[in-house]
Amino acid sequence: MLFPQKHTGADTTIFSVMSALAAEYGAVNLSQGFPDYPIDTRIQEFLAEATVQGFNQYAPMPGLPLLTEQIALQKNKQLNVAIDAGHITICPGASYGIFVALAALLNKGEEVIILEPAYDAYIPAIEINGGIPVPVPLNYPDFSVDWDRLRAAVTTRTRAIIVNTPHNPTGVTWSAPDWQQLADLVAGKDILVISDEVYDQIVFDGQQHHSVLQQEALQEQCVAVFSFGKQFHATGWKIGYTIACPAITKAIRKVHQFIAFSVNTPAQYALGRFMQQFPGEDSCALLNGKRDLLHRLLADTPLKIIAPAAGSYFQVADYSAWKDMPDTAFAQWLTKEAGVATIPLSAFYKDGTDNKLVRFCFAKEDKTLQIAIEKIKAKL
Ligand code: PMP
Ligand code: GLN
Repeated sequence: MLFPQKHTGADTTIFSVMSALAAEYGAVNLSQGFPDYPIDTRIQEFLAEATVQGFNQYAPMPGLPLLTEQIALQKNKQLNVAIDAGHITICPGASYGIFVALAALLNKGEEVIILEPAYDAYIPAIEINGGIPVPVPLNYPDFSVDWDRLRAAVTTRTRAIIVNTPHNPTGVTWSAPDWQQLADLVAGKDILVISDEVYDQIVFDGQQHHSVLQQEALQEQCVAVFSFGKQFHATGWKIGYTIACPAITKAIRKVHQFIAFSVNTPAQYALGRFMQQFPGEDSCALLNGKRDLLHRLLADTPLKIIAPAAGSYFQVADYSAWKDMPDTAFAQWLTKEAGVATIPLSAFYKDGTDNKLVRFCFAKEDKTLQIAIEKIKAKL
């Protein structure tokens, strides 16, 4: 049988490829973005409580009110904007949130701009939903937005722009002026902003996260997407959510109700109860310390930090002073020979742009980071 080619993305994502290679070679896995430390035991206890309390049947389609109300409270406090719990839709992960938004809002043949390097799920999600991805490169090496190039990429067929702050893979964050530029760019146009903010709780050096939800001018033309996987270090729980105005929320739910319908009830209960009982918990200090540790450790190696991560789980480093090989070959060599798995940045570009960079995930035990860099130093 012949099957349709639904997208031009990888047959197997780079995250699966590198994690499998790490397992095969017994390498320290700093590739795929997941913590190797345990989740908060209080969340585990609420999960057990949920099943005992009988939260074992379908949740309401948009989400458990206990959870959506807590999210609204948290966002109101964090962003200083009024978020209505009724505009939140709980999804089985942020990737699904982005996918369902595209499925709901994109017409066939419309263009969606992405800023590269970009999370590798965007292009397949656009294409599977009949859209045409239009990659625009971020400035190199600081990964800021090239506003002239972005403006030039907008056509009458542009339906959406996907943005991501804090950014995967670079850890770069958007400032208020960035948002102002984007708002000016799409003002008066039928262009949606899909804002991937899965790392919104992980911003360093005392800085604030700047969200699309704070942009008054974008309220009727944006979808913000979040993930509890990152917020509570439980990537395997696969729970995220979208926040959008009533009209967009209605369109998203019209599709969502026939794909997932609703999301794991005990997990929603556990997250809602945790946020209710322990509001204001965040991971900034923990992850900030890990980023700083990785910076100190890398300073002892030829791997050069070209743009320090301002948020997220990730730090990009330039290996060109050490080895002269393509980034995919380098990442494989480093896994097999040094015993440290990373992600080659070319995986985040449609055309495979290779600036000799790899991404390290520092959401790991300090010991794991120390062992990884010792292994690298043993190969120098
Ligand atoms: N967007 C970005 C930028 C990510 O790094 C990830 C991975 N956590 C996702 C979306 C997907 O998140 P989830 O696991 O909740 O689907
Ligand atoms: N978001 C994670 C990363 O960037 C991976 C998610 C996945 O494996 N699909 O590493």
